Amino acid sequence: MRILVTGGCGFIGSALVRRLIADGHLVTNVDAMTYAGDARAVAEAASSNAYQFIKADISDAAAMAEAFAASCPERVFHLAAESHVDRSIDGPGVFIKTNLVGTSVMLDAALKYWRGLPENERQAFRFIHVSTDEVYGTLQAADPAFTEDTPYAPNSPYAASKAGADHLVRAWVETYGLPALITNCSNNYGPFQHPEKLIPTVIRTALSGQDIPVYGSGENVRDWLFVDDHVLGMMTAAETGRTGRKYNFGGNAERTNIGLVRTICRLLDDKRPGAGKYEDQIRFVTDRPGHDLRYAVNAGRAKDELGWTPSVSLDEGLSATLDWYLAHPDWLSRDPAEIARLGLAREEGAR
Ligand code: NAD
Repeated sequence: MRILVTGGCGFIGSALVRRLIADGHLVTNVDAMTYAGDARAVAEAASSNAYQFIKADISDAAAMAEAFAASCPERVFHLAAESHVDRSIDGPGVFIKTNLVGTSVMLDAALKYWRGLPENERQAFRFIHVSTDEVYGTLQAADPAFTEDTPYAPNSPYAASKAGADHLVRAWVETYGLPALITNCSNNYGPFQHPEKLIPTVIRTALSGQDIPVYGSGENVRDWLFVDDHVLGMMTAAETGRTGRKYNFGGNAERTNIGLVRTICRLLDDKRPGAGKYEDQIRFVTDRPGHDLRYAVNAGRAKDELGWTPSVSLDEGLSATLDWYLAHPDWLSRDPAEIARLGLAREEGAR
């Protein structure tokens, strides 16, 4: 199948690209290579003749029209986005431009392309918009998990920009008939995640003997899904999901942030035995403004309608993830001195 992926040099997009190439598809990866894009994540896939890369910004209408013309896709997986909540608080502008305007440009380009297809190809075409559970806002401890019918109540500029993008996709389905679906997923983890995100940050700071920062009192709850399970979910939604429908994906793995960080520390203790405990490096830092208390996802629709459930438990997934980062210290930092510390902190007794 010919597949157009946006954001394929990012964390989740690259996992999707690797999987699609392994499955024998023809993949065109459109990525602007912002600070979050890293060609190393698709290096192996890029050596395949089935892979084509287009460096372009999704908010560039002419470039997106060209990308559609160059790839003639049967499927579009739209993942390109600004994705880091903290950055959205410091500078929301680029989040609006990429996540909102960029998605509208993608939808316009997709619609023009789709309208030009022969009838049978028009029927089969699918546009998958990959979104987040953060659009639903926050839950209290006793609240039921988010369903696809939970009203949108985004609290961060990131979540608001994604919520707006979801509404645009919905409107393009309702108004123009574009065969699109929306997926809303909980926190992903796995190899090749940007070092600024929680799990890579915990590993990097632990190994290099620094403080391990945890926001507030660490009581915020997140649900964690292994990235390859998310990839399978979005691929299944593309094939068997109903257009115009939303599907939630989650890992059935709610943890407080402090609980997750302690688990990672204990796993690191086991994997790198020596004196002391990584937990001793945990430090609570000033909370993020507007920090949502709890996200929890009801993925019942994905199970009932798509036959999708997460296959990797958090314990298995975390262990495999830590093994990957331990084997790739150069991923966690581009600073040679820090890379050296990542490998040596424990032996040097630097903690
Ligand atoms: P990421 O930040 O790791 O990667 C984003 C990619 O998009 C990068 O390769 C970047 O270069 C590219 N990009 C950014 N702006 C662009 C632009 N204007 N034009 C073209 N390319 C651009 O993000 P991720 O964690 O892989 O997330 C991918 C998608 O999944 C996002 O839409 C995000 O909202 C969604 N999502 C992420 C999570 C998560 O836990 N990471 C959870 C749910 C949903």
